[in-house]
Amino acid sequence: MTALPDPQLASQAAPVSPADPQLEAHNRRLEQLLEQTDLEGMSPETMLRWADGHFSGRAVISTSFQYSGLVMIHMAVQAGLSLRLATVDTLRLHPETYAFIRDIEARYQRPIEIHRPDAAQVQAMVNRHGEYLFFDSKFKQQHCCQIRKVRPHDQLLRSADCWIAGNRRDQSGHREENTPKGSLAPEYGTQRKILKLFPMADWSEQQLLAYMETHGVPRHPLYDQGYASIGCIICSTPVLPGESKRAGRWRWFNNNTEEADDKKECGLHYNI
Ligand code: SF4
Repeated sequence: MTALPDPQLASQAAPVSPADPQLEAHNRRLEQLLEQTDLEGMSPETMLRWADGHFSGRAVISTSFQYSGLVMIHMAVQAGLSLRLATVDTLRLHPETYAFIRDIEARYQRPIEIHRPDAAQVQAMVNRHGEYLFFDSKFKQQHCCQIRKVRPHDQLLRSADCWIAGNRRDQSGHREENTPKGSLAPEYGTQRKILKLFPMADWSEQQLLAYMETHGVPRHPLYDQGYASIGCIICSTPVLPGESKRAGRWRWFNNNTEEADDKKECGLHYNI
């Protein structure tokens, strides 16, 4: 994850510890799986089945309920896989998202793990920078994303060996170059590795929509209001025809060429 020059944050990183045989064996297993498995050649269904088979109870689909996440949930449930389903509630999601989470649980009869930020950390951030710090600067936006999204997600990953996310190469120029179907990510603050999978990496939006139509996969209601990307209530906005998919994210940074649309990330996927 992106390092922040904040002493409060830096103090939470664990020091490098002496070699741990169990940890080394775990990391070696993941490295071998990555080297010996043709993940790039797998279809999404095959990859989800493969993950379920290799990481029973320790593989999790982490989603913000965009197209890719819904398609993966649908595929996993239809195939009878025991993959865990999880999301991060930043406490700033749209009301439609909260309602949609309940709809998805009811529709698929599967619980969705909800991971929320630490209340004391949120309060400390707000006390120091204000509730709407993300308007002030890119640095403060990333700080807010760290507290509200990345850290709760790091907590989720402590109980996982395989992290499955819906990133696709057609979502931005940055993602086109940084979305391998399989890679290793470090667990924050430790030397333990986690296998990170992007089963939908090479699917286009058209393919996803066609699949959803054919299989009756529910769509997040915000898409019908012009959203192209689902996130927090102020930081995600609808996009206009011709705008990039991530133009609606942190829209007030759109004129900053240093933070062009294709580089807009919350920090979850920096370590790919
Ligand atoms: S998207 Fe906005 S409100 Fe949500 S965590 Fe990031 S900066 Fe904070």
